Amino acid sequence: MAKKKVGIIGGGIVGTVLGYNLSLYDSVDVTLFEKDQIGSGTTAKSAGTVCLFDDSLPNKFWDVRLYGFQTYMNLEKEDKGSAGFDNTGTLVLATDKKVEESIKTGIALATAAGYKAEYLTDHDKINKILPDLNLNGILGAGWTRDDGYFDPTMASNTFVKKMRANGAKVFTTTKVEKINMHGNKVTGIETNNRSYNFDVVVDASGPWTRFTGRMAGLELPIWHTKAEAFFLTPPKKKLDYIFPVLKYPRFYARREGDNIFICKAHLTMDLNDPMHAGIWDPDKLQPTGGTDEYFLE
Ligand SMILES: Cc1cc2nc3c(=O)[nH]c(=O)nc-3n(C[C@H](O)[C@H](O)[C@H](O)COP(=O)(O)OP(=O)(O)OC[C@H]3O[C@@H](n4cnc5c(N)ncnc54)[C@H](O)[C@@H]3O)c2cc1C
Repeated sequence: MAKKKVGIIGGGIVGTVLGYNLSLYDSVDVTLFEKDQIGSGTTAKSAGTVCLFDDSLPNKFWDVRLYGFQTYMNLEKEDKGSAGFDNTGTLVLATDKKVEESIKTGIALATAAGYKAEYLTDHDKINKILPDLNLNGILGAGWTRDDGYFDPTMASNTFVKKMRANGAKVFTTTKVEKINMHGNKVTGIETNNRSYNFDVVVDASGPWTRFTGRMAGLELPIWHTKAEAFFLTPPKKKLDYIFPVLKYPRFYARREGDNIFICKAHLTMDLNDPMHAGIWDPDKLQPTGGTDEYFLE
């Protein structure tokens, strides 16, 4: 039987995970195109907190969360470091009763799945984990010791290595410039140096999807959100303890070298507020993310 030929546009975490999973099937012939380097787009900016437990995803998506965490942990088991796991633990702070309820459910789910997780109300115990934390008004904290963050660019490159080993083709610095169509059916793509025929083309170009979509005559409603992020260097001293992934409902933080990376929680953004969301060409954003003009002196 002839193999199904699948072309993937984009070598971020989405394109590479998809490419790897398709490469497991003998009946599929996979080719992935990345205009830059593997995992160099949004994936390179990610904090990599695919946590066992945090407050960014409602508990009803527990299966998805667990699958994601275990997928990356399996990479680590096969080849240590291949998903860039840093086992810092995750601390989620209960700022009110509703958040506390959700934390307790998340902790119960993580415990039932066999991981070390507990809900702490003793402020001394919480401060033992994160000494610099001001706990005024905090009801308690969910603590998942087995947790941590990953390096998504590393994981993307690992998936590429594995898909290549399964016979898939991966082209970097190769931009898809045109999607070929016959009537309403996509028949292939053209890159900067040649054309390819495919049975199926998958667009995994993330924030570029508005532009790649237009190549197939589609106006896709892709909006970009602005995640204000800061790097803070603790004054006068170097961190001498393991800084966990820290989640408040409206922001999260984790260690990045000697700095603390702090980022607004993505789900708190209001798509109707131009301070939070808009439509941009990702290739034209400034290295800062293009938000400087919104900051007041
Ligand atoms: C500051 C920040 C922090 C984040 N933190 C987290 C986190 O802690 N946990 C979490 O789960 N998520 C986090 N995210 C979200 C996460 O990073 C994204 O959801 C994820 O990386 C999207 O992956 P992607 O493959 O869809 O897109 P991308 O990584 O952007 O990949 C798309 C790729 O397509 C390529 N491409 C585009 N056009 C073409 C073309 N014409 N031809 C060929 N290639 C093309 C691009 O070069 C790019 O490499 C964060 C995001 C940001 C910005």
